[in-house]
Amino acid sequence: MTREFRLRYAPSPTGHLHIGGARTALFNYLYARRNGGKFIVRIEDTDQTRNVENAAEKQMENLKWLGVDWDESMDIGGPYAPYRQMERLDIYRGYIDQLLAEGKAYYCYATKEELDAEREEQIARNETPKIAEHHRHVTPEQKAQYEAEGRTPSVHFLVPEGRSYVVNDSIRGEVTFDTSDMGDFVICRPDGIPTYNFAVVIDDYLMKISHVVRGEEHLSNTPRQLMIYEAFGWEAPQFAHLALILNQEGKKMSKRDESIIQFIEQYRDLGFLPEAIVNFLVLLGWSPGGEEEIFSKEQIIDIFSLERVNKSPAVFDSTKMNWMNNHYLKAKPLELITDMCIPHLQKAGFIEENLSEAGYERVKGIVGLYQEQMSYCAQIVPLSALFFLDEVVYDEEAVAVLTEPQVPEVLASFKKHLEEQGEYTVETIKASLKAVQKETGHKGKALFMPVRVATTGQAHGRDLDQSLYLIGREQVLTRLERVISERQGA
Ligand code: GLU
Repeated sequence: MTREFRLRYAPSPTGHLHIGGARTALFNYLYARRNGGKFIVRIEDTDQTRNVENAAEKQMENLKWLGVDWDESMDIGGPYAPYRQMERLDIYRGYIDQLLAEGKAYYCYATKEELDAEREEQIARNETPKIAEHHRHVTPEQKAQYEAEGRTPSVHFLVPEGRSYVVNDSIRGEVTFDTSDMGDFVICRPDGIPTYNFAVVIDDYLMKISHVVRGEEHLSNTPRQLMIYEAFGWEAPQFAHLALILNQEGKKMSKRDESIIQFIEQYRDLGFLPEAIVNFLVLLGWSPGGEEEIFSKEQIIDIFSLERVNKSPAVFDSTKMNWMNNHYLKAKPLELITDMCIPHLQKAGFIEENLSEAGYERVKGIVGLYQEQMSYCAQIVPLSALFFLDEVVYDEEAVAVLTEPQVPEVLASFKKHLEEQGEYTVETIKASLKAVQKETGHKGKALFMPVRVATTGQAHGRDLDQSLYLIGREQVLTRLERVISERQGA
């Protein structure tokens, strides 16, 4: 019988969902779905010093927003619950005791500070740092003395000597690790809480995980995990380690680098679409072959394989991310993009909390002017400021247009015709512009540019009639008047 595909994403709740974590989750999810298997989210929170409150819940919320949904986790349960490691301490205890009883692990009474100091001395002597032999064998007298001193032991795994462990990795092939470079490692801290390397093995085994797809930074942990599988006589899952994500300078992406937007929540807040992020993330290391780059999640599920995951690092290109999102934004219904833009306009103070129907229609019209060109919805704020602010910001180059000789006449004529119209609609605006042409004899650029610059401050923009309509009658007349009187004063 072939094993069921069971993959997991196992974040430590140390912060927001990062691009790298989201990619790992996505690849596990896609591979599970591709093979009709299960996708599990497990929270690895045994390093309590690093835990951040609510980080697990938030990460899961953002995964869900991306459309990466799971079959088992702490929120919906599942056959191998609980899915949060701090709720599984009793389970680990049994396995720790088993290793202790079998002599495959031992209590170590040295403090972290003592071990660190010994390690430094070894490094200074040019030796490979390893736990000193005397910690491995503690006599009953020493044990009694340590306990009298109030020491509580940690549990160390006894690393087999002179062995090599081969990680058979779906992406990078066989990677061999020699135990001569490895010291006995802690599997349970003095407070009774197991370390990552131990808990991960117990859980992957008990949860019947078939494939472990995770970041390259965990590759060096894998031989230690293999030792634990071996100690229990368990079969290890198939491993696949994803190459790093580099920034555009070719350096490892650092979470502290504020020049790159790195957290899914930030993209969400800026008005990116989940399908664009998923499409972008999947190309960070996986290549479909061929030129096509646009894939829906369903299409990717049909063709995803670990064989097409790249061994070499992926480069995070934010321009491409913007391009990708623009591609998806353009194709969406205007109403949806309007709804995504509204919170940004509210935050900027451009519109009120409760929009009237007419107000909504106006905003929709304005968003419609820019839907094609926006990379993400927050950009609507600078793009649309000219529709909401009384003060026109004149582009320095554009403003030269207003010094041309025909300008006062053209603007005054346009203003007059607009005022004469009973209604203010795109049609009456068009008719007024035509009337200016007839009256003044100016046409084309000589006519449209002064009108555009005087009312928008810019030499280029979206459709002029529509823009004038959406700026609104009163504002347009005020802006025209302002330029006319400035020219008269000059
Ligand atoms: N908890 C680990 C992390 O957040 C994941 C390790 C794993 O996938 O095995 O990096």
